[in-house]
Amino acid sequence: TTSSNKIVVANWKMHGSLALNQALITGYLHGLQSLPQTDVVVCVPYPYLPQAQSLLSSTRLGWGAQNLAKYEQGAYTGEVGASMLQDFGARYVIIGHSERSTAYCESDENIAEKMMVAKRHGLTPILCVGETLLEREAGVMERVVGKQLETIIRLFGGEAFAGAIVSYEPIWAIGTGLAATAEQAVAMHQFIRDTVASADKSASASLKILYGGSVNPQNAVQLLNQKEIDGALVGRCSLDVEQFIKICQAVP
Ligand code: PEP
Repeated sequence: TTSSNKIVVANWKMHGSLALNQALITGYLHGLQSLPQTDVVVCVPYPYLPQAQSLLSSTRLGWGAQNLAKYEQGAYTGEVGASMLQDFGARYVIIGHSERSTAYCESDENIAEKMMVAKRHGLTPILCVGETLLEREAGVMERVVGKQLETIIRLFGGEAFAGAIVSYEPIWAIGTGLAATAEQAVAMHQFIRDTVASADKSASASLKILYGGSVNPQNAVQLLNQKEIDGALVGRCSLDVEQFIKICQAVP
């Protein structure tokens, strides 16, 4: 992620089929022809990595996965390792998405290890952090997100964030239709950058911080126009070409 462009990441979650993916990707490529200032990445379910590779190889769209194993290889039934993602040209991987950390009780330590495995393999991690509604209402959101970042800093140092992507995803905003306001997002993005900067200044300068949680064509304009917001991670609206392209068009 050396470019200074803003990044829009599509997270398809567990949606798609060979036919639907082909239609989505064809639509993305068509819509993005006139948007050279926006970097776009699509994170697909594992089985569709070869399809993404064959459709996107000679384009400027990147592709990636939605999770990876913290191990290199071995007796880990059902897991997928970083080198397997690399075999299919993936350059990005989402790590610590709340839909996984909640459902499969993933710890901050596990997430930290996955981040380092990704980096060791030259994959750009898209680390998801964020608080629950109860935590926001209690006013402890910075403490919660701070702890998620500090676990990585404690285990691997601030340089773990060099060239990485962090996506601020308040859990109350994911899939709910209720996005954070630009003010709420900006405040947290500043906190995230400051936290990383106090561990490693140069890593914080090369870190991109995205916002995720019910981004749609309407709220994207305000969110993506904030200098603190380097892009968006988009779930539901990435499954609709027209809405996804409109979000990409909101990048100033
Ligand atoms: C997500 O997948 O992280 C996400 C933000 O989903 P949605 O855009 O549907 O809220």
